[in-house]
Amino acid sequence: MRLILLGPPGSGKGTQAQRLVKRHGIAQLSTGEMLRAAVAAQTPVGLKAKDIMAGGGLVPDEIVVGIISERLDQPDAAKGFILDGFPRTVPQAEALDQLLKKKHMKLDAVIELRVNESALLQRVESRVAEMKARGEEVRVDDTPEGLTRRLASYRTLTEPLIHYYSERRKLLTVDGMMTIEHVTREIGRILAAIGAVEARAARKAGAQGSSRHRQA
Ligand code: ADP
Repeated sequence: MRLILLGPPGSGKGTQAQRLVKRHGIAQLSTGEMLRAAVAAQTPVGLKAKDIMAGGGLVPDEIVVGIISERLDQPDAAKGFILDGFPRTVPQAEALDQLLKKKHMKLDAVIELRVNESALLQRVESRVAEMKARGEEVRVDDTPEGLTRRLASYRTLTEPLIHYYSERRKLLTVDGMMTIEHVTREIGRILAAIGAVEARAARKAGAQGSSRHRQA
């Protein structure tokens, strides 16, 4: 199964991606996580990305496309994957189409998590509070200003992907304002409806208990 999760910061992409990974044994490819790891390890990519990310801007397309291309060649991605945070621009989506074609891979679906913008700030604030409570380091871009910048780039650069994938008949939209459980169940249901997973697996995924809410 090969999926893309699309949605603004705080829409629950990371949370749902982790649940799909657990249920279906596929790899989660999160460019945000990969870039944060690169920043922490001070690799050349990390050094280039650090300030851009802190300011809520987007890292250049060629950098993230390069990271994803390498990551798709890892053995764990052969079983399937879920892209979380990529593609984020139309050129990234076009590059992904080319990459998948070259690697003889086909996308099953793009799942859009639709949320009310007014809920996002509060969600990001709760994520910060939860991370602090667990003693984890809080993301430098998880501030009201950072969120505003990230939302602005989402609107101008990422939202056009909704049209891009809808034209290619890949887009499935889920109401991201429901509870975590409900969203998981709904994703399971639509994946079963398009034949990407067996109906039985989808029901089981919906019944899954954990509500760890680490990353949007
Ligand atoms: P969120 O979805 O909450 O904004 P992510 O963890 O997906 O957070 O991404 C954090 C930051 O990493 C982004 O604000 C951006 O600077 C950078 N980034 C992640 N993915 C991409 C991408 N595909 N293209 C460009 N920059 C990216």
